[in-house]
Amino acid sequence: MVDTPGSQSSLHRANLERVVRAVRLSGSLTQAEIARATGLSAATVSNIVRELRESGTVEVTPTSAGGRRARSVSLSGDAGIVVGVDFGHTHLRVAVGNLARQVLAEEAEPLDVDASAEHGLDRAERLVGQLIASIGVDRAKVVGVGLGVPGPIDGESGAIGSTTILPGWSGMNPREELAGRLGIPVHVDNDANLGALGELVWGSGRGVQDLAYIKVASGVGAGLVIKGEIYRGPGGTAGEMGHITLDESGPVCRCGNRGCLETFTAARYVLGLLTPTHGPDLTMQRVVQLARDGNPGCRRVVADVGRHIGSGVANLCNLLNPSRVVLGGDLAEAGELVLEPIRESVSRYAIPSAAEQLSVVAGALGGRAEVLGAIALVMSEMGDSSLLDGTAPSLS
Ligand SMILES: [Zn+2]
Repeated sequence: MVDTPGSQSSLHRANLERVVRAVRLSGSLTQAEIARATGLSAATVSNIVRELRESGTVEVTPTSAGGRRARSVSLSGDAGIVVGVDFGHTHLRVAVGNLARQVLAEEAEPLDVDASAEHGLDRAERLVGQLIASIGVDRAKVVGVGLGVPGPIDGESGAIGSTTILPGWSGMNPREELAGRLGIPVHVDNDANLGALGELVWGSGRGVQDLAYIKVASGVGAGLVIKGEIYRGPGGTAGEMGHITLDESGPVCRCGNRGCLETFTAARYVLGLLTPTHGPDLTMQRVVQLARDGNPGCRRVVADVGRHIGSGVANLCNLLNPSRVVLGGDLAEAGELVLEPIRESVSRYAIPSAAEQLSVVAGALGGRAEVLGAIALVMSEMGDSSLLDGTAPSLS
């Protein structure tokens, strides 16, 4: 049956969501408080609470309110399970949470995501199954899956929007593939957008309406938030900051152009500068650690990367005038060693009025930002409008 706005069932579902949202925001409420918070009649609240209790979404416990006996309604521990799946270029991370915004289980494993979409989705399907089983909840309680992939996503179809950015996934529709395997609705977005969402709801972007989340890893992408909403562009390509041209005669990029920002900042290029002195097994995490320990070569490389990112951020400031830039990925661990050079470039290349209003900070969620953003994506698709207003309760 197709719901039309205003139909009996869509009205009922909207009322259910209002009650769940009110309870989630307050932790627990009596039925009289729910009626006041939602504007619904006592009889409607009573019916909805009974229905939510029968479905296991809420728990009802006796309490006293103003000396009178009352019943306290709270979300049950396994209320509405939500799953986040994050594919990075080199890892797979899965988290399972509930609509009460608790993370119940989380796990990451290394994975060469570019190599084969089929293999990546096999691993994701297995890990999701394992985590759901590990917390002992019924699979039927999973209300949605948020999926992040490291490439542009076409908003309408959910297909990968570029054949050059993620060649192993070319022609693939990861949303439909994963939904088919799991039998659960899947919402998909690119990893930088999800990182922005995670930091916006629970991290360094709380309460900010205009923000850019910049993720520097194997590639470089930006999640753009304009007036409190992720801006994706019609083809899902907005924020592909890594492919801003910095040097027309620079190194050839995987996108086919020369001298893209990515070729001066992404791990796959930057590590090559240091492997002659530090060996072939060097990782970006190690470079950041060495820089923090005072290694001059690694400090130099981290600062250069910061300056190049800053050039891109300056362009972004001139175009969009965000109030905050949040740096994610392994590089954020370098703290001021990378943030200060970014700020220097911004003050050099951006219009002063745009640069003055900008704060450049490290992400608060580290490598979890994307998978938590995937969970937030499902909550937001389910109508949780309190997510982006900066009032979301902490995630545990
Ligand atoms: Zn490029």
